[in-house]
Amino acid sequence: MTRESMVWYSDTLLVDAHNDVISRMKDSGLDFCLRQSATHSDLPRLLEAGVNLQVLALFAPPDHNKSATLQRILSYGEYALDCIDQDRRLQLVRTKADLAALTPGEEKLGVILGVEGGDCLGEELWILRLLFRLGVRLLTLTWSNRNALADGVWEEDTKGGLTVFGKEVIKEMEALGMVIDVSHLAPAGFWDVAKAAAGPFIASHSNAKAICPHPRNLTDEQLRCIADHGGVAGVNFCGPHLVEGGSAAIDDVILHIEHMWKAAGEDHVGLGTDYDGIDAAPRGLEDVTALPQLIQALRRKGHSESRLEKFMGGNFLRVLRDVLPD
Ligand SMILES: [Zn+2]
Repeated sequence: MTRESMVWYSDTLLVDAHNDVISRMKDSGLDFCLRQSATHSDLPRLLEAGVNLQVLALFAPPDHNKSATLQRILSYGEYALDCIDQDRRLQLVRTKADLAALTPGEEKLGVILGVEGGDCLGEELWILRLLFRLGVRLLTLTWSNRNALADGVWEEDTKGGLTVFGKEVIKEMEALGMVIDVSHLAPAGFWDVAKAAAGPFIASHSNAKAICPHPRNLTDEQLRCIADHGGVAGVNFCGPHLVEGGSAAIDDVILHIEHMWKAAGEDHVGLGTDYDGIDAAPRGLEDVTALPQLIQALRRKGHSESRLEKFMGGNFLRVLRDVLPD
């Protein structure tokens, strides 16, 4: 598809709040800036899909050795920064001004660096500050395991919420201008964040529990709480989060979006695909270049242009404009 044919994208920036392609590329020795066949996404296909702003997640699987975790996160960060330095089509977004410079229709991908899982912090706030100085602007507080900040969804039965350190991290993130991401967090921690956060927080890639009862999904109460705090929940394309059994199609994604609109309101739902962090993408959304099909399918169902523009990026942009530093 050529960019000229994408008139249906209007003047809105397309924002995806979660993609794991960086660790896949680095681990496989592949170049993110070239078209690949083994991944769901790469720079050429993200641009072809019309994505203007992508949160690139830096993720390391749980390891009792937090120094090893930190090294791995930093190695993914270095890989991403190398790509950004070497390719003019990439622009690191660190400030409100960087955000304002993104233009719909321009062949440029804005990148927000996110760290998925606070494990790499150990119990050191200075590591958070250093990550910020390296350009990281989002932290998913936990992955599904327990870390020094809080318990992830695997530890749901412990009812463990935010630790004292976890609360310090939230305060520091708000002071620095970093987006607080509660995806993967166990419910007790979720509600602690809602109490501790002064501003909006997001669930970058989390679906609706009312549609599929997976522990990673959010209840209607959680979705409403995110909305009450001015935040956004991003729908993801992970099969087991979409349908029991895990064999999902584009219509299942639409069911989640429509339910999330009902529970949280249209100002609080966005896109957090999790491309390259999921095993199999839903039928009809096989790789990132299929994103236009999702928007078109929602349009065919009669959803208004303003609702779609908010979903495609307007909502996440509102939070970023609020949270990022000047
Ligand atoms: Zn994730």
